[in-house]
Amino acid sequence: MFNRNNSKNNNGGKKIVLTASAIEMSDFNLNPFIAFSGGFPMFLPKEFLRKRLYPPTPFNEDGTAKFAPYGLRKVESILIEYFGEDNVVTVYPSMLEKFVGENTKVVGISTMDPLGIGFVSRTYTSLVGISGKPMTAVEFEDMLSNPSLKKYKPKIIVGGSGAWQIVKAGLQDQFGIDTVVMGEAEEDVLEIFRKAVNGEELPKQVVCRKPKSENIPLIKKPSLFGVVEVTRGCGRGCQFCSPTLRQRYSFPLDHILKEVELNAKNGTRMITLQTDDIFLYKTHPNFIPNREAIIELIASVARVEGVDYIQIAHAALAPVVCDPVIVKEIAPILVEKSRWTYLDGEKYATFEIGIETGSVRLIEKYMRGKMLPYPPEKWPEVVVRALEILNDNRIYPLATLITGLPGETEDDVIATLELLDRLKNIRIFYVPLLFTSEMDCILNRERHADLRNLTELHWDVFSTCWRQNIKVWTLEEVRNKIFIGGLLTYALYYRWLHGPKVLKPILRISGKY
Ligand code: SF4
Repeated sequence: MFNRNNSKNNNGGKKIVLTASAIEMSDFNLNPFIAFSGGFPMFLPKEFLRKRLYPPTPFNEDGTAKFAPYGLRKVESILIEYFGEDNVVTVYPSMLEKFVGENTKVVGISTMDPLGIGFVSRTYTSLVGISGKPMTAVEFEDMLSNPSLKKYKPKIIVGGSGAWQIVKAGLQDQFGIDTVVMGEAEEDVLEIFRKAVNGEELPKQVVCRKPKSENIPLIKKPSLFGVVEVTRGCGRGCQFCSPTLRQRYSFPLDHILKEVELNAKNGTRMITLQTDDIFLYKTHPNFIPNREAIIELIASVARVEGVDYIQIAHAALAPVVCDPVIVKEIAPILVEKSRWTYLDGEKYATFEIGIETGSVRLIEKYMRGKMLPYPPEKWPEVVVRALEILNDNRIYPLATLITGLPGETEDDVIATLELLDRLKNIRIFYVPLLFTSEMDCILNRERHADLRNLTELHWDVFSTCWRQNIKVWTLEEVRNKIFIGGLLTYALYYRWLHGPKVLKPILRISGKY
């Protein structure tokens, strides 16, 4: 058994060391939904949070990480093929001093949200109004200030879906990062690491070429949350979204099952099927879902020994209406293999969906493909019908809505409120978000939505969502005991923080205003 205290006995270090911040290397006690909280500022000691909120996952006997983010595992796999297993290690950040030494040429870091300015962190940090750095940024900087990096000065290469934040904020030099790698890494990452190992000059930033599917390797070691990619890219074309710019692939079933088996054999109890929409798996033209392929995929994963839980990452709503039989067939498996129990004591399954808006005009303008094979004007009906079908099969999704899309009018916001009203009997968890212009999406030149510009109607969207969340996810007696006093306190606090326009919407959360 590896002794965690024995973390400073490097024998010259490994040639290539891969890592991510303490937050991004944790599985939050096997809860991918709580992992969102890493994007908020917190005023509890780091040591306490590392122990309770985002504890490290187990270590191997040699001190390397037993589980690591999936993207980092893909890069590790490519590097091991070329440099050999002895020269590449993936470690928890507290182990950097053990593995970084005079032999270390390069440290590769993966990150999803290094500055805490992704959609979720930006929205809830500004909404709650606590000033201070989100924990994800605190931990990212903490990792970069590790004494072994200062002492041995290996080249630092940072990639991952949040790497763009560093470039956009102009912080690359301040952080001492040699190269920022943006986009899918498979095609170009080896050349960058090869240069770093050989001491050649490195490009400051690299926007990677789209990989050919045959160049995407299997992971060699288990991934955090048991993530296994089943599709990549989307192609529905939503203009605020980055996956749509990626080439769409469905990975072959045997490729997927090999990664599932690898994870299950190594003690990952959960398998997370990574996809931007499970219904895209081997899809037919015009986004008609491939019923047989999807059912076979889920059933095959469930049959793998050691898979206790299956979690689908994302799904689109239109295919649910297009072929409800798929939901009927896969839901019993997903519920049986679910980690989640509802208030009635029975299990339910969940995944993330995007409602985004109730406005047909905005759907048509920014996300025409989202409801294919249906026309944009059908969007509200598609949302309502799809959620009824999901709920009937004990699937209670987590849904994002985007407030402040460029050019959003009062009528658009009213349409969203009308849609929310039609969904008032649906079991769902809403995550209303502020529009954030990410660097690798079509709307990257637009301005972020800002709390200061929200109207009372926008605040109504937030409060309606949170009223529904409280109604659906807390027992009535708990609600009654703590709710009114707490709500009044919040209302006064928000009134102070964001001005008079928030008072009525917040008080409406109680449903008694
Ligand atoms: S459907 Fe989802 S994943 Fe696809 S482009 Fe739209 S937002 Fe992105």
